[in-house]
This record gives sequence, C-alpha cells and structure tokens, in this order.
Amino acid sequence: MPYSAPVPSRPVQAETAAARAVGLSKIYGHGETQVVALDNVSVDFGRGRFTAIMGPSGSGKSTLMHCVSGLDTFSSGSARIGETELGSLKDKQLTRLRRDKIGFVFQAFNLLPTLTALENITLPMDIAGRTADTQWLDTVVNMLGLSGRLKHRPSELSGGQQQRVAVARALASSPEIMFGDEPTGNLDSRSSTELLGFLRASVRELGQTVVMVTHDPVAASYADRVIFLADGRIVDEMFRPTADGVLNLMKSFDTKSRVS
Ligand code: ADP
Repeated sequence: MPYSAPVPSRPVQAETAAARAVGLSKIYGHGETQVVALDNVSVDFGRGRFTAIMGPSGSGKSTLMHCVSGLDTFSSGSARIGETELGSLKDKQLTRLRRDKIGFVFQAFNLLPTLTALENITLPMDIAGRTADTQWLDTVVNMLGLSGRLKHRPSELSGGQQQRVAVARALASSPEIMFGDEPTGNLDSRSSTELLGFLRASVRELGQTVVMVTHDPVAASYADRVIFLADGRIVDEMFRPTADGVLNLMKSFDTKSRVS
C-alpha cells in the first residue's frame, strides 16, 4: 500500500504561533437553551503579529478570545498559549499562566484609583514578586508617551492616557501575547487612533504579539491580519486590511445572512 502522509492535525506555521486554537468549541447551556458560541474553530495567532478578530455582535469574538487566553473554559478542542495546552491546566496553573505569559486590555481601564500610573503599571509584577526590567519598562513607557505622567493618579489622566497606562501594565512583563477586548471602546476617536497606533508600534517596534477583538473596521485596519467570525465560525480572513476592505466584507456577510 502506498505511503500517504498523515493529515496534519495542526495548522501550518505552527512554530510561529503565539497562541492556537484547534477544533475549539464552546457551548453554553443545555437542550433548548443551548447556544453554540464557538463551533470547531481552528486558528493560529502568529508571533510578532497584530491580529484583529471581527464579526457582528454575538458572533463569538469575545468567547474565542476568552477561551484562547484561559479566561474561560471550552467544551471541546484544544487551545494553546505557546506550547502550553490550556485544557489540561488546573485553575491555579491557569491563573499563573495568565499572570506570567499574557497581557490583557479591556474596554474598561481597570486601574486602581489610589495608585499612581507607575504603581498601576508594575502592580501585576509586584503581586507576582517579580522585579520589572527597568530598561524594558522605560521603552514601553516612552513608546506610549507616558514618561511625564507616571506620578499621576488615574483621576488626573485623560481616558486615552488611562488606557495607555493599562497597555503599559499589560506589556510591562513583556508577555508572550497581549489580548485586547474592544480596547478602544471607551475612547474618543483621537485617543482611539493614538492607542491603535501604539498597539501597532508595540508589534512592529517592540516585537510584541497582539490579538484584538473589535467590531470597528477602522480599528481592525491597524492589524496585520483580520479574521472574521459569524455564528461561532471563522468565515474569512484578510491580510494587510484597509478599513474600507473590512467594511465591505462585513457588509457582504450582512447581505448573505439576509438572503439565507
Ligand atoms: P461577540 O463577542 O461576538 O459579541 P460573544 O462571544 O459574546 O459574541 O457571544 C457569542 C454567543 O454566545 C452569543 O450568542 C451570546 O449570546 C452567547 N453567550 C456569551 N456568553 C454567554 C453566557 N455566559 N451564557 C450563555 N450564552 C452566552
């Protein structure tokens, strides 16, 4: 019988993936109230890349981010950060993995009001008993334009500055990957443009890996690659996206879903 190569069970370019989902499914509820939030999703998030996850509300964007980053459990399949399989980790191990290897930025800035910007930035490392690499911290703080603001408390900072502090906090430990869930959702358009520019610079200039959930085509256009979700499945992807290109693709999904 002729030899046939085994079908690869992992997506190509596996060696460069900072995070990966293979056949990932997430089902909420049971019986009639069951919701399939993720339906057999396989995707690689390339190291040193900026990836945006787009899709209409309810398409599974946040669920995908939460399952791949260890914030939520999944029903079946596999999710990895680097070479670490999340499904096999206990709660404490997951907490440690999130703390040591992952940076998070959410729509809400989640800064502690009584601490200065610098204290907020180093807090996760302080809690972990780790010392910040001052050279790296300086680089991050300078890139984010925060050097003159480090002694200010959050109430003395604009929304855009507070979110930049949150990004600096996420990057302070030079994480394996940084996840953003609608990080520009609470910002005006100028601060949003600035923040997206900083996220892109953290990838291009500092070699970080960013995965960002967004519903905004302009935000997605800052990424190197956009993956599109609909009904819990990846339905398309775009490299070197433009805002118009993303918008047109989203409109075509709307039309298809109305026709079907
Ligand atoms: P998106 O981020 O694209 O708006 P989500 O990932 O939040 O979408 O949600 C995907 C689907 O899963 C939606 O149908 C949503 O209603 C459902 N869902 C999300 N969280 C829960 C939950 N805790 N319990 C039940 N259903 C949920």
